[in-house]
Amino acid sequence: MAPAARIFVAGSNGLVGSAIVRRLRADGCTNLLTPGRDELDLTCQQAVADFFRRERPEYVILAAAKVGGIHANNTYPAEFIQQNLAIQTNVIHAAYENGVARLLFLGSSCIYPKLAPQPMRESHLLTGPLEPTNEPYAIAKIAGLKMCEAYNRQYGTRFVAVMPTNLYGPGDNFHPENSHVLPALIRRFHEAKLRMEGSSISHLTSDISPDTVTVWGSGRPMREFLYVDDMADGSLFVLGLDEQTLQENLLSYPKPCFVNLGTGVDVSIRELAETIKDVVGYPGALEFDPSKPDGTMRKLQDVSRMTALGWQAKVSLREGIERTYRWFLEHGEEVR
Ligand code: GDP
Repeated sequence: MAPAARIFVAGSNGLVGSAIVRRLRADGCTNLLTPGRDELDLTCQQAVADFFRRERPEYVILAAAKVGGIHANNTYPAEFIQQNLAIQTNVIHAAYENGVARLLFLGSSCIYPKLAPQPMRESHLLTGPLEPTNEPYAIAKIAGLKMCEAYNRQYGTRFVAVMPTNLYGPGDNFHPENSHVLPALIRRFHEAKLRMEGSSISHLTSDISPDTVTVWGSGRPMREFLYVDDMADGSLFVLGLDEQTLQENLLSYPKPCFVNLGTGVDVSIRELAETIKDVVGYPGALEFDPSKPDGTMRKLQDVSRMTALGWQAKVSLREGIERTYRWFLEHGEEVR
């Protein structure tokens, strides 16, 4: 992509979108279209159609979505399916109607069946039932990538997708209940440390005991985590593939139009919690609360397709947690 290309990043304020924008700016891109939620309601078809006609983006990165952890997915299933279907349908169709050169759709590894063989390959899509706790979200994401595939087949568009594994990093959601495990635990260990040090800060989550940090579930589920800057790097790598590689690998149906984006390495929730405890420097104990759901027991991506294309993740889990904790300390007030 030329530095002067008009690139629309839908969802530019989120964890994924902001990392992609950071990276594009660092690469010298000067023509970024990054409307905020108040300027462009992506769930409104007319607003999206008008935006595309007016702004004429050449490239689209579809990073806008309603996202959340187990608790949020269980509590707001209707919002998760409705908002995600609306956003992606509006953006993908408008991209087609306005002759966008390439579109990149951001999916999620939760599209794979609950009992998919591990590590999960792109070919495991739609081979079995999904994990019930995030089924509405996963169905929306599957619809999004199938929509890209269908438009490519019927209209010859270049709409491709990446399926990032669990992401984390600067700009994450640190809500105590509705966030994903990694930011939730950074916050919980940090606040327990402050309590232990006798802090009387009033915004600390009320039920935190200073001596023990509670981690949901059994601690045994295995998860793979990708640092957002690696995600941005991998996403732009796919969007910028040369025409022949793109055609041969992602646009020749029935080959999938999407590729897994992960590290290919996973850790148990217990190991994750211990690493976060260490990085935060919390000296107390940790315990598990088996009354909270474990979700899927293992979720590891097979990243061989991405490796074959010539890309791999660079930031280690510990390094990524250190960077994220530093960001949390610098932006603590904003994320509460
Ligand atoms: P998932 O990957 O879709 O299951 O999403 P989560 O990030 O919400 O959860 C991953 C795993 O971490 C599950 O087994 C959770 O039970 C476990 N977990 C442990 N403590 C927490 C926490 O404080 N918040 C969340 N969201 N999950 C936690």
